[in-house]
Amino acid sequence: MFQLIQRSGIIIVMKFKNLPEEFRSALPILDKISHAGFEVYFVGGSVRDALLRRPIHDVDIATSAYPAEIKQIFKRTIDIGIEHGTVLVLAADGQYEVTTFRTESSYTDFRRPDRVEFVSDLSEDLLRRDFTINAFAMTSDGIIIDKFDGLSDLKTRTLRAVGKAEERFNEDALRVMRGMRFAAELDFNIEEATLTAMSSHAALLRKISIERIFIELDKLLLAENWRKGLFYLNETEAWKYLPGFGKVDAACLIDRFQFKNSEQAWAWLIIQLKDFDLKDWKVPNVFAKTVKNIVSAYYEEDWDVAKIYRYGLDIAELADDLKVASGQKIDRLIPIIMDRRLQIHSKSEIVIKGADLIELGYPPGPALGRILSDIETNIVNNKLLNKKEEILDYVEKLSR
Ligand code: ATP
Ligand code: MG
Repeated sequence: MFQLIQRSGIIIVMKFKNLPEEFRSALPILDKISHAGFEVYFVGGSVRDALLRRPIHDVDIATSAYPAEIKQIFKRTIDIGIEHGTVLVLAADGQYEVTTFRTESSYTDFRRPDRVEFVSDLSEDLLRRDFTINAFAMTSDGIIIDKFDGLSDLKTRTLRAVGKAEERFNEDALRVMRGMRFAAELDFNIEEATLTAMSSHAALLRKISIERIFIELDKLLLAENWRKGLFYLNETEAWKYLPGFGKVDAACLIDRFQFKNSEQAWAWLIIQLKDFDLKDWKVPNVFAKTVKNIVSAYYEEDWDVAKIYRYGLDIAELADDLKVASGQKIDRLIPIIMDRRLQIHSKSEIVIKGADLIELGYPPGPALGRILSDIETNIVNNKLLNKKEEILDYVEKLSR
């Protein structure tokens, strides 16, 4: 796929023979920018993932052109972060983030640069990036520019900070979380000096917004090698600076277990950690609610139709995954059987509505509410058929 064509100083140059489709479809964008007289490259995670032959998501583009110049070159653009130099270019087949080469200087708050300075030189832009494997650039004809010997790190599956590790984590402590996340996603080992710096700067995570930490930890948990991520979380003691955390023991789940979704992963954290409270993590309410449901479902001892109705089969199965993964012997068919026995899965499926009863002369109010919930319970427990006549008969008997 690629060949080594030159080695000059620390910049190793090699070439992709067949650019992956994701890059090829962006080529018209790069051509336009370079025809206008600017330098332009593919950068960041997409180049890394292409080299690792992993699926590529967003293709990031870096250029010497200023945002205003990019907006002149392309008709359809959206300002998505113009103060950071990023313009979204809308093309027929997709949208591309185009970011002006920049440096980030003096992080007095340990999280966001005080100042973003546009620069004309690609090298300076690459210097601000977090890890060597995230600091590649690639030209439109597939030549890889590797200022920091990231190719060697890819080969040995090593995660190494660009430049002086201490400085990099001091500038932006989110990188501590990103480091663990990349180790988990890529199954890389963290290089010693990088790991030492992660440990010594982990306390700065206190300065990072919890929402940004959540995103990284969430990606870590869903990664194939999440155990490795948690190993580094323990090793660096970064958990001390995460709300409600303690040491999390991945060994209490069976080998090769993967979380099915974020909600399940965070439910597992709650089950593991006594003082963990999702409120501290500022997650959306719907997310918190689902997580809480999985946790309570986990503590249910036996399934019956009413419980499956209340939780829903999805939640019950997510909870059962965790039970099985922690070594509990359970019959996984039970929730499915219970679910099949249910005539309804929500109130709205009951064929008689409150309005129907009001029409028949039942006065609206708490008494009617009780009748309706009584109908629901009996249908759920299969003591009453979800049929108009049957329900009306039943209601009539009740009020007699
Ligand atoms: P992903 O696969 O999650 O998209 P990515 O490497 O593309 O991984 P992004 O967060 O999309 O990560 O960022 C794109 C690039 O920007 C990174 O590859 C890296 O070069 C740079 N970058 C992003 N966040 C930081 C950071 N906190 N510090 C330094 N460089 C960063
Ligand atoms: Mg990315």
